[in-house]
Amino acid sequence: MDEFRLIERYFGGGRTNHPESVRTGIGDDGAVVRPPDGRDLVLATDTVIEGVHFPADAPADAVGHRALAVNLSDLAAMGAEPLWCLLAVSLPSVDPAWLEGFAGGFDRLAEAHGIDLVGGDTTRGRLSVTVTVAGHVPPDRALLRSGARPGERVWLTGEPGRATEGLALWQAGERDPDDPVIRRFLYPEPRVEWGRRLRGIASAMVDLSDGLADDLGHILSASACGGRVRVDLLPGGAGTGDRAAVERALAGGDDYELCFTAPERHAGAIERIGRECGIAATMIGEVRSEPGLEIVDGNGTARAWTGGGYRHFGGGDGR
Ligand code: ADP
Ligand code: MG
Repeated sequence: MDEFRLIERYFGGGRTNHPESVRTGIGDDGAVVRPPDGRDLVLATDTVIEGVHFPADAPADAVGHRALAVNLSDLAAMGAEPLWCLLAVSLPSVDPAWLEGFAGGFDRLAEAHGIDLVGGDTTRGRLSVTVTVAGHVPPDRALLRSGARPGERVWLTGEPGRATEGLALWQAGERDPDDPVIRRFLYPEPRVEWGRRLRGIASAMVDLSDGLADDLGHILSASACGGRVRVDLLPGGAGTGDRAAVERALAGGDDYELCFTAPERHAGAIERIGRECGIAATMIGEVRSEPGLEIVDGNGTARAWTGGGYRHFGGGDGR
């Protein structure tokens, strides 16, 4: 199959969720799009590489899903609503069954979030997928990492550490694609609706790719603040003090949950969004003026987060 037939067959679906804004989609030298009137565009791009971001034996649809999910997660973390995306794939060979699965995983997630694939690139090489996404927000309303202020609360959607638990099961040979923990690793769910609804509520936000402590650290340093996380407030097994669960929650990567800061008065609104989205958020600590991240263990002992010692569950590999 030549490159053009391949693109047409697997990536040329042609359906569009934004007919008014996609003037020319796949098939020309470039896509022509029209941004919604007066909105700010948010752009992000991320690459996933076999053996680095997903195992070589991951199901094809999980690879397609992940490549888009990690990008939608970046839009979510900015409070942006998805519009369009570009898909650049490097393939070692043309394997129709694999491509079918890959395109299916990509398309299902694209459809779920109403994002239109408007172009891309297809080359031969080591398996690697780069997706570029565009989304929109009202003028000057994107949620940045730099807006946190001392005294605010730190919140988190979902349960951090679940993806790491799933990866460990996968590495131990578990292959049940319906196992909920395996699924949290193979099919991360970008919190797009959560992110959008946090505009005007959250003061700063980040998505969790490298681990809660490091990613929260990005908010704190961008905001020139420090913070404190209380282990007994962490959702799931970590809150009970189980040591491995605490490590996974603080340092495990690939969760694609949202971590955000907000003034205390917004607690009720945040809990309401959680009920309406069906994914609860948990208040796990606070922003402080003293620099650095302090972790308070279940027994009340405080220690400074240094990253070291908690890294054996991932991070630090350039993701
Ligand atoms: P050119 O050589 O002019 O860049 P290409 O052969 O790379 O053209 O691509 C032809 C059309 O197919 C373009 O509109 C491009 O955006 C689209 N395209 C190529 N690869 C993909 C892909 N993986 N997913 C979506 N669209 C793609
Ligand atoms: Mg091209």
